[in-house]
Amino acid sequence: MSVEQAQVQRADFDQVMVPTYAPAGFIPVRGKGSRVWDQAGRELIDFSGGIAVNTLGHAHPVLVQALTEQANQLWHVSNVFTNEPALRLAKKLVDATFADRAFFCNSGAEANEAAFKLARRVAHDRFGPEKYEIIAALNSFHGRTLFTVSVGGQPKYSDGFGPKITGISHVPYNDLEALKAAVSDKTCAVVLEPIQGEGGVLPADLAYLQGARALCDQFNALLVFDEVQSGMGRSGHLFAYMHYGVVPDILSSAKSLGGGFPIGAMLTTDALAQHFPAGTHGTTYGGNPLACAVAGAVVDVINTPQVLQGVAAKHERFKARLQQIGEQYGVFSQVRGMGLLIGCVLSDAYKGRAKDFFVSAEQHDLMILQAGPDVVRFAPSLVVEDADIDEGLERFERAVAKVVQG
Ligand code: PLP
Repeated sequence: MSVEQAQVQRADFDQVMVPTYAPAGFIPVRGKGSRVWDQAGRELIDFSGGIAVNTLGHAHPVLVQALTEQANQLWHVSNVFTNEPALRLAKKLVDATFADRAFFCNSGAEANEAAFKLARRVAHDRFGPEKYEIIAALNSFHGRTLFTVSVGGQPKYSDGFGPKITGISHVPYNDLEALKAAVSDKTCAVVLEPIQGEGGVLPADLAYLQGARALCDQFNALLVFDEVQSGMGRSGHLFAYMHYGVVPDILSSAKSLGGGFPIGAMLTTDALAQHFPAGTHGTTYGGNPLACAVAGAVVDVINTPQVLQGVAAKHERFKARLQQIGEQYGVFSQVRGMGLLIGCVLSDAYKGRAKDFFVSAEQHDLMILQAGPDVVRFAPSLVVEDADIDEGLERFERAVAKVVQG
């Protein structure tokens, strides 16, 4: 029997995979909409969305069509040549946002790597080698490369790998005074998630982002918004910055951009893009035709009033029921977030036990997420059916009851 046809099981993970992850005990094999089936044929409702990725659920017909059509046309040519899907996607993103230019890559970390390198390059070109400091937020998450863990505000991800990238400082999120105290003429960029995702589904205050924008302007620093998790419709707007009306200089996108096909993008202005001339940065797969064809279809479907208004309505549906469950069982101190990125902050009695809720949900045929040890996170498809929301939250209530009963 060939390797492709061999029977594989969860236990094989512990034998053949580098143990960077500890995945759940079942193996999903098929998905349709917001339902997923495992090897045993068990059906689960998916409120995890591949960690805010499966923005149109599983096997959305428009995405399947875009991928298969492109698969029959052209898979890859590298950036020695350009390609039609990449150019079409760049035009769509430029038309829909503040940006004039797009750089494509394969993940959120790479989109941020490009953003941080560009910010440093711009400062270097315009103001000289002394202006290289980056200010980021405590508890932020920007990816797992050495630069992105260094900018990320969680030492558990950046410690233990030798010297970090230097010139980076961290300030408490949503604390404008702390940002004011940290910023200086040496600052080249302030990097923020408009909604902290991994850090606990924490939206920024409007005044904080406005203040950050003003400080950047005052100190000739660039404002970088990491919208890898908050972007592509998840907030109910195409990007969360549009909700706030605070425009960044550089924006990173990934996750939902490809709806499940790996792609990342860094968006910026024409003037800043000129600091990345040919040869300064790159990646073999960036702008891959398959990825760009799918992402183009995602943008077409997402960036419509129908889908974006639907996100706001589904947010209310989720929130009302989650608050009710929280009150009934005394498990949540707050239900927060925006659109379909929702976090339930565990009450004191359940602090540190988000994993227990995750495990119990899975036992009740429901896929959810944690955002740290104290927050239960939901990042479902933006087009999740109301009936799936209701049934999924029924299952969630039973899962919560189980945790509460011990
Ligand atoms: N930035 C944010 C805000 C994220 O939430 C993530 C992933 O969770 C990343 C960057 C990293 O993206 P990727 O895992 O695709 O490299």
